[in-house]
Amino acid sequence: MSLTAVGSVAFDSLETPFGKRDKILGGAATHFGLSASFFTRVNAVGVVGGDFGAEEWAVFERHDIDTRDIEIVKDGKTFFWQGRYDYDMNTAHTLDTQLNVFETFDPKLSDNSKSARLLFLANILPILQRQVREQCPNAEFVAMDTMNFWISSMKEELIETIKVVDCIIINDAEARQLTDEPNIHKAAKAIMNFGLRAVVIKRGEYGATLFTKDAYFAVPAYPLESVFDPTGAGDTFAGGFMGYLAAQKEITDDTMRRAMIYGSVMASFNVEKFGTERVDSLTYPEINERFSAFKRMTHFDEIPFERSTTA
Ligand code: AMP
Repeated sequence: MSLTAVGSVAFDSLETPFGKRDKILGGAATHFGLSASFFTRVNAVGVVGGDFGAEEWAVFERHDIDTRDIEIVKDGKTFFWQGRYDYDMNTAHTLDTQLNVFETFDPKLSDNSKSARLLFLANILPILQRQVREQCPNAEFVAMDTMNFWISSMKEELIETIKVVDCIIINDAEARQLTDEPNIHKAAKAIMNFGLRAVVIKRGEYGATLFTKDAYFAVPAYPLESVFDPTGAGDTFAGGFMGYLAAQKEITDDTMRRAMIYGSVMASFNVEKFGTERVDSLTYPEINERFSAFKRMTHFDEIPFERSTTA
């Protein structure tokens, strides 16, 4: 199954308690695409400026990502985001956002991108997400992300977009804000009632939870002792989740549960180094080894319970 992703392609300047990087490759479509590219061929849809260089394009090429729908505005500048994380690496503090060419982004999909069976709408203006969804009427499974800014500034528009997708992948604070509901289970239910098949709630270092009509499945985050940079972890999670699903014949509760583990596996690599560095150099044996570690971590023997007779 093919997979199309629309979203930001960016330069990020990042600061965490463990170091700093200036103007490195980032963006939601970038992190998502790299992660998903380990499972399937990805069509990336976005826009960059003339400052987007050979080094950046090479990252997409190395992962066989189709970039024909990444528009280049030669005399414009690429979207720029500057963020800082303190010791609580679950919370990003935005220091600067320069939309640049992203301000007038008008995603136009080639026939190849339109024909993908799976579609991911990364965090962009909800109206644009809906327009892209409409350009892919035959997509079998469409997932989206969003952010607090759209929830507070255009909730009604955003809800109209949520109603035309199958799955939303958001963090817990966003789920609460979207529904005005402090209890996460009630919030997930309220979001499901917009007509979704699945709601995935990300909880940073505490893992992620999948809600469907019949299933509740929680996956932990991999217990890493050194987290350098959480930027893009959410998109990398979504890339593993959607990439794995794109490689399956059918999307069922069972395949979605496995996809949750691949999401968590991929996100765990992303945070080990700055930006795209770690996922860019990732290998299949590393992915398989960590998937096995997740299986070991979440395994319970089915031994019948008996009351202990020892003191
Ligand atoms: P994540 O950490 O998964 O939420 O995503 C981080 C990526 O999102 C960074 O690489 C940024 O370039 C990108 N980003 C930050 N703010 C925005 C925004 N307002 N719109 C689109 N992308 C953004």
